Amino acid sequence: MKSYNVNEEGYYGMFGGAYIPEILYNNVENLRKEYLSVLNDSSFKKEFDELLRDYVGRPTPLYLAKRLSARYGCKVYLKREDLNHTGAHKINNTVGQILLARRMGKTRIIAETGAGQHGVATATVCALMNMQCVVYMGATDTERQRLNVQKMEMLGATVIPVTSGNMTLKDATNEAIRDWCCNPFDTHYIIGSVVGPHPYPDMVARLQSVISKEIKKQLQEKEGRDYPDYLIACVGGGSNAAGTIYHYLNDLRVKIFLSEAAGKGIDTPFSAATIHLGKTGIIHGSKTLIMQTEDGQIEEPYSISAGLDYPGIGPMHANLAQTGRAETLAITDDEALEAAFELTKMEGIIPALESSHALAVLSKKQFQPEDVIVLCLSGRGDKDMETYLKEHRGKLKI
Ligand SMILES: *Cc1c(COP(=O)(O)O)cnc(C)c1O
Repeated sequence: MKSYNVNEEGYYGMFGGAYIPEILYNNVENLRKEYLSVLNDSSFKKEFDELLRDYVGRPTPLYLAKRLSARYGCKVYLKREDLNHTGAHKINNTVGQILLARRMGKTRIIAETGAGQHGVATATVCALMNMQCVVYMGATDTERQRLNVQKMEMLGATVIPVTSGNMTLKDATNEAIRDWCCNPFDTHYIIGSVVGPHPYPDMVARLQSVISKEIKKQLQEKEGRDYPDYLIACVGGGSNAAGTIYHYLNDLRVKIFLSEAAGKGIDTPFSAATIHLGKTGIIHGSKTLIMQTEDGQIEEPYSISAGLDYPGIGPMHANLAQTGRAETLAITDDEALEAAFELTKMEGIIPALESSHALAVLSKKQFQPEDVIVLCLSGRGDKDMETYLKEHRGKLKI
């Protein structure tokens, strides 16, 4: 049977691999050799599970949203990753990677961050484990996301504003890679999504797979069967989606809808819809779909949602899209905003703007009354309040 998991060589179909400079070879190769044995080690599992339970707050609820279900004529369950410590799914990955780093004898952690969510999740676990933490962040983003910079600093991390390129996520990632090249022995690089060279996409997917592991158990209890008819998740790099679909990847009874950020529309220059608009290329060590110009320059993506404007996409998702295993929908800023206000009004839950892109899928598809849908509510909306208020006022013409 066809498998949608990574193969021995680190590829998902034609995507993935490890396209890295010679100087990084040993770092990545050591990680590749060790990650599976660490992740499968029983003492690692025990410590990881305990922290997920007592520190992160897992299992997160699988909540049957009754009013939303009535509105869309099907059963809509929300997987409440918004209730995790630090407000999103990202902490699942950083807890796992810091335990791995410690087992590999590392004492210093580096990370890249765009909006600052991954930076905060990394700084959090570094405080917890008493590890030195350096976070690279585009200078444009440090301006836009003051509060997250302050949180990281309060947590004890050093935030380095990156002034090369467009001074955003892509440039911060390049700088983090440069740091890792210079500090190969004591430093572990915690990548924030299912991107980067093999084994990162597979490692991060495995650490996030706790999401679908819980969904299976919770659906069995609530529905008497351990699989849904549909899974829906938003995709920036792809880690909350990977966690949501992981245990259903090869179960074709389960249909998968992924949503990416169309920004102002896929026919405008302001978009981050990598699967719709991207072409195959290499970014940050991985062969995948990338938003790029005719001559291969990476294009700056745009979305109202800072967590979704990465110019690449995880190789797992590139393959799911190419093979037709998943259907990808491009959701505009306006559609996401509408979905955010709808959830807030109907269920009393203010979602992250990223998650709102998943919610917007509900109005784009037809479902049957007996259909069971599980939608990953990847994060909470506190960080997006300024945007929401601005939009709300605009709509009310105050
Ligand atoms: C970072 C973020 C995302 C996008 O990242 P993925 O790796 O695609 O999951 C989605 N939702 C929230 C709340 C985020 O913080």
